[in-house]
Amino acid sequence: MFDWMIVGAGFAGSVLAERIASQRNESVLVMDTRDHIGGNAHDYKDEAGILVHRYGPHIFHTNAASVVDYLSQFTGWRPYEHRVLANVDGMLLPIPINLDTVNRLYGLDLDSAGMEAFLATRREAIDNIQTSEDVVVSTVGRDLYEKFFQGYTRKQWGLDPSQLSRIVTARIPTRTNRDDRYFTDTFQKMPSDGYTAMFANILDHPNIRLELGQKWNPARDRPRARRLIFTGPIDEYFDHRFGALPYRSLRFAHETLDVEWAQPVATINYPQTEEYTRITEYKHLTGQTHPKTSLTYEYPTNEGDPYYPIPRPENQALYKQYRTVAEGLSDVWFVGRLGAYQYLNMDQVIGQALATFARINSDRAPTAMV
Ligand code: FAD
Repeated sequence: MFDWMIVGAGFAGSVLAERIASQRNESVLVMDTRDHIGGNAHDYKDEAGILVHRYGPHIFHTNAASVVDYLSQFTGWRPYEHRVLANVDGMLLPIPINLDTVNRLYGLDLDSAGMEAFLATRREAIDNIQTSEDVVVSTVGRDLYEKFFQGYTRKQWGLDPSQLSRIVTARIPTRTNRDDRYFTDTFQKMPSDGYTAMFANILDHPNIRLELGQKWNPARDRPRARRLIFTGPIDEYFDHRFGALPYRSLRFAHETLDVEWAQPVATINYPQTEEYTRITEYKHLTGQTHPKTSLTYEYPTNEGDPYYPIPRPENQALYKQYRTVAEGLSDVWFVGRLGAYQYLNMDQVIGQALATFARINSDRAPTAMV
């Protein structure tokens, strides 16, 4: 009998396992259906010996010093600022759209004020911004929308931006300066030996036992621990009793090339051509020196692992039904992106897990939802 059973060895499960094991001195059984730790952030050395991310590129960025401080107990860091180019009209142009994007695309020589004036002539006035199309067209106008966003979003989601909630594109800024960083967070860095090495350190505690390659089976596993933290899909926990929560998935194609470098930056987006959305070259992220290089192509699909909750109002309504029954449980905590049915970055999941631990530790009555 363990004190705790944690389903999922990603960030949510691993951080909580470590906190409970080290701070409460209680026993924890961590189970994952995959044969490895790290969840979607798992990385490994491929056949050529190049460190790659199995589930697509994971770039650590945050404004939360507390999250960095927590992880720094388990890893060193290498500084890294992510840059992305979009292959548009045969050119490689910075995305998010900035001054250089507009100048190079239209053969202009604008300064920041000039770009602001240019966008003012292009953007369309939309009174009630509802969809992802509305967000972009009202910010940069229809031509930039069609070139950079429409095709990419259609591939990524299998839906036109006009069918998707505003939150999908609202996260992407437009800059009238030349800042070509993808993120502007205070802390941008990568674990110096990779994510899996960091996870191994997080989970390295005598109170933690790992069982990998095993799907949680309630009849078999529930009696093995007094309390449960579930970081898998919330609808799966309830046997999809209200229906399955829809997710968009990805197929990853990994490739090693016999050249030292293939791309000028880590990621190139393909909004107009190709079936894949983007290609990532890992050595830019990891700083590894190697005569060959490894890339991942991402092909969006409806089949496969649940990656991106599809942000539509009817899906949120379905999620709320699950959340309501979850709130009625007293000995189960739902944590992580699959429990919240929300796209969350790694730092948000770590923050959520640390906050959950604080609640568990405060001896308040258990609250099933975080
Ligand atoms: P997960 O990492 O998914 O872990 C959940 C684990 O639970 C999985 O290992 C799963 O196998 C296991 N599990 C589920 N159900 C069961 C079951 N029934 N029995 C046993 N095990 C089960 N975030 C960033 O901050 N930066 C990025 O650059 C970034 N890039 C991303 C790129 C892609 C393509 C994707 C999909 C996500 C990206 N993210 C990024 C988000 C990041 O992956 C998540 O924030 C993080 O992995 C969430 O951790 P988690 O523990 O909630 O979930």
